[in-house]
Amino acid sequence: MAKRSPAAWLRRAVILLVMCLAALLAVRVVLRQAPAPRLALGTDVHDAVRAVARDQALAAVAGEPTIRTPHFIIKYPAGDRADAAIVASQVEKAYAFVFARMGGRPADPVVVRVETRAALAADLGVPPNQDPLGAYWRGVIWLLTPSAYLSGTAAQRQAAFAAVGPVAHELTHLADDDITGGRMPAFLDEGMAQYMQWRFSGYRWLQADNTFCQPHYSWRQLAGEFDSLPNQALAYRESFAVVRAVEAASPGAAHRMLAAIAAGATSAQAVRDAVGSREETALASGSAWSCGSGRASSASAAPAAQTAGATVTSRAWPANASGREPL
Ligand SMILES: [Zn+2]
Repeated sequence: MAKRSPAAWLRRAVILLVMCLAALLAVRVVLRQAPAPRLALGTDVHDAVRAVARDQALAAVAGEPTIRTPHFIIKYPAGDRADAAIVASQVEKAYAFVFARMGGRPADPVVVRVETRAALAADLGVPPNQDPLGAYWRGVIWLLTPSAYLSGTAAQRQAAFAAVGPVAHELTHLADDDITGGRMPAFLDEGMAQYMQWRFSGYRWLQADNTFCQPHYSWRQLAGEFDSLPNQALAYRESFAVVRAVEAASPGAAHRMLAAIAAGATSAQAVRDAVGSREETALASGSAWSCGSGRASSASAAPAAQTAGATVTSRAWPANASGREPL
């Protein structure tokens, strides 16, 4: 057996370190309800871990058919071409929208895995009752096949898929991850993703149990316990409201918030830097959000939601895509 040089051992050690980190990160799946690991890695390690995760995600479905678009590699189960085509019809529009506003572009084509409900739950390691419609994990996007939660003809499902905007949501997680090097706090990450999704499609997650006619979660709860808060729908709505308030504060405020997080700021410091006042200001104005009384927002009106004649059946992303309810 040939003796290894010190350089070869060093390379081997680095590869092993990256593999160990990838295995560690694989323990935690990034769901819309359970967002990305907020592990602050060095940029090189962060990029290396994402490269490993991307390779693994592609290797796992190497035998599946593929749709290529200029910026995406879409893998889907054999026989699910119609749904994969629905996804493919949206990805480039969402990509152009998200990265024009967030800045930067991924160096490599984005891997999207379209999966059945059972396969998605198995991939992500979640119980079936969580029923996620999408996920982002280390540069890779998972999407539940549209026919699993949208009914109607292919054209109707395509219109309904566009009206929900899940690709814009997951791409925003990718942008957040890129910009902050994996440091994005969970609730601001979900707030940004929902905000961009809303601006793209008009979709908002509104349902009976996330009305503001109830006690709000505090900033401390959102920042410290977001993933485990029992009313996830309310936590998500508040996270959206915070980001919307930041965006409305002044031009470029959200970008300043992201830059501060990238530089190591806490969520509170980052929002403070962005809006020029205490972060609680954003949530304190939540008193005016109560019960649909409407907070006068300077944010632009959402584009009109499309009506598709199709039904969104998922509990996670219900059919109320009006985008009209005031904060
Ligand atoms: Zn999300």
